[in-house]
Amino acid sequence: MDWPQSTCYLNGEWLPLAEAKISVLDRGFIFGDGIYEVVPVYYRKPFRFDNHLARFERSAREIGLANPLDRAGWHALVERLIATCEAAEQFIYWQVTRGVARRDFSFPAGTPPTVFAMTTPFARPSQTQREQGLRAVSRADERWLRCDIKSVSLLGAVLARQFATEHGADEAVQFRDGWLTEGSSSNMWVVRDGTAIGAPRDRLILEGIRYGFVGELCDRIGVPFEVRRLRRDEVEACDELMLTSATREILPIVALDGRPVGDGRPGPVYARLRKAYDDAIEVLRQ
Ligand code: PMP
Repeated sequence: MDWPQSTCYLNGEWLPLAEAKISVLDRGFIFGDGIYEVVPVYYRKPFRFDNHLARFERSAREIGLANPLDRAGWHALVERLIATCEAAEQFIYWQVTRGVARRDFSFPAGTPPTVFAMTTPFARPSQTQREQGLRAVSRADERWLRCDIKSVSLLGAVLARQFATEHGADEAVQFRDGWLTEGSSSNMWVVRDGTAIGAPRDRLILEGIRYGFVGELCDRIGVPFEVRRLRRDEVEACDELMLTSATREILPIVALDGRPVGDGRPGPVYARLRKAYDDAIEVLRQ
């Protein structure tokens, strides 16, 4: 493998990514027993960092994992990580697992967690992606019932995204029992009659940090914003479809299952949200 030349953090040590090693008995490796976060950095500043920390704390609570660092500790770690990378735009990834223990499903007693963090230069969505949009395919949501936890057990997401890739698409739009949930690694937004609509923030989706952000942007630019369940036929007949995630920010979906969404081009609500999104990022430049 062609290793990125970057420094990472592993259990209190700073070392080149290629040299960071964990045990084969790590419960993250054995069970997917861990949680993670992905934080975008713009102009060398983490974006909505406290929201990411709050989500991480919640994930930790929900799986009964002691958070190894307090907020000041996470701030210090992430600041140091950003300093190791020259790029102005980066992605911070961190994950905490329930540590290394004899293979047994129950939680091990007194085992310290494994704490890993890395940063990668981040290329924001390209002009082509913004102007031409993405293609998506629909798929039954076959994941577990606690999608609200940002777990490293990501097989469901991997299979959904691979399904999209094999169908020449960029993302899978998932439906559970005929109701819209989310993408493989993104939240979905439907626009109908000028209103932006998102799926309920329940256990069936991960509430993205950009979920709340889209709500704020809608308020700011005067786009009506609604949260409710969406039937498949409503999604298929929508005017616009968009996704949000840390890595893809906000991008329009112009085709679903090979059929055009709306008129098959990025729509007006997307254009306004995109501008508001970029404006919010520009504030970090100062
Ligand atoms: N849903 C899922 C399943 C995801 O994996 C992600 C991205 N991690 C999101 C939604 C969007 O979350 P965020 O805006 O915090 O990137």
